[in-house]
Amino acid sequence: MSRSPSLSPRTLAAQALGAIDERTRAIVPPIHVTTTFERDPDNLYRSGNIYGRPDNETVREAEAVIGALEGAAKTFVFGSGMSAAIALFMSLGPGAHVVAPKTMYWALRAWLANEAPAFGLAVDFVDAEDVRAIEAALKPGTTKLVWLETPSNPLWGVSDIEGASRAAHGAGAQLAVDSTCATPVFTRPIAFGADVVMHSATKYLNGHSDVLAGALCFAHDDALCVRARTIRQSHGMILHPFEAFLLIRGMRTLDVRVRAAAANAMDLAGRFSNHAAVAAVLYPGLPHHPGHDVARRQMRGGFGGMLSIRVRGGADAAIAAAARVRLWKRATSLGGVESLIEHRASIEGPNSPCPPDLLRLSVGIEDVDDLWQDLDQALGG
Ligand code: PLP
Repeated sequence: MSRSPSLSPRTLAAQALGAIDERTRAIVPPIHVTTTFERDPDNLYRSGNIYGRPDNETVREAEAVIGALEGAAKTFVFGSGMSAAIALFMSLGPGAHVVAPKTMYWALRAWLANEAPAFGLAVDFVDAEDVRAIEAALKPGTTKLVWLETPSNPLWGVSDIEGASRAAHGAGAQLAVDSTCATPVFTRPIAFGADVVMHSATKYLNGHSDVLAGALCFAHDDALCVRARTIRQSHGMILHPFEAFLLIRGMRTLDVRVRAAAANAMDLAGRFSNHAAVAAVLYPGLPHHPGHDVARRQMRGGFGGMLSIRVRGGADAAIAAAARVRLWKRATSLGGVESLIEHRASIEGPNSPCPPDLLRLSVGIEDVDDLWQDLDQALGG
């Protein structure tokens, strides 16, 4: 692989770091599927590869691309975003205290609330859009990790990464950021002081709704990073080579996909702001959004492809509107090229901070007028 540090992330991803297969000169490197490697006659493993659970070249190529996009010292991919996040929390060890947002990806919040105590972790949930609330929850010496998700599911609140990193470091803790929805196209959390960046690579990094994957990107090759790698290896939380290949292929178009989705989202957010059936539009790109100023500081070039609308008439009206779409797909998940709509409270359950009248929109790259006309008719426009 040849790579110049001066190249832009868009260039690095488009060429998958310029990787060329040395033997055949193929522009698209082969998929390495072997689970085992031959030992040298003198009993050494000079190739550095021993066994498929820790060692796979296609997986390493995916990690190299994500690491370059995030400016990370070390990157590990996992079989899903959940397994990446949970590996990090397990790496903290029993007795650790964690500060996490009240509003975040619901399944991970549920894991932190219900499962993490069994691993010896104590978790406090705070309003993570307020750095003072994070500071107040920190227990110097005991808090090992502050977790942020920004923009956060499904209300799209914005957390100040720089402020949270100062607060966390001041208390001897590290800062991890779920940057799934910001993507490295718009935000590179390590540049704002984050120690770890997590992605559900299932979403924008892959971008085609056909791979489950996760990633942890570490700013430093430190003890936490070593522990996370060990946990991935011993628990087999690995990404398979074919998925790693698809992920690399998806990332080649990351920049254009994400910018196109964000431009559509911004356009739709503006149109919804004047729609009679819409009570509120939640999108960090709108000037009246409470996190807009922070978003402008730490999201460079766009505000992402995710937005939510609150429908006048409550839950029934929202569910009925989702039932009337013809082009948008009623489905969970996000970050694919196709637009998805979801009545989010139905999936998050009773402990969710999600209002019952909320429809979450993962805006794809289709023609924005087609997207608008479908939603407008669904909302009775
Ligand atoms: N983080 C965010 C923001 C997500 O939206 C998701 C999944 O929806 C996850 C983490 C979990 O990722 P995965 O589904 O790849 O396990």
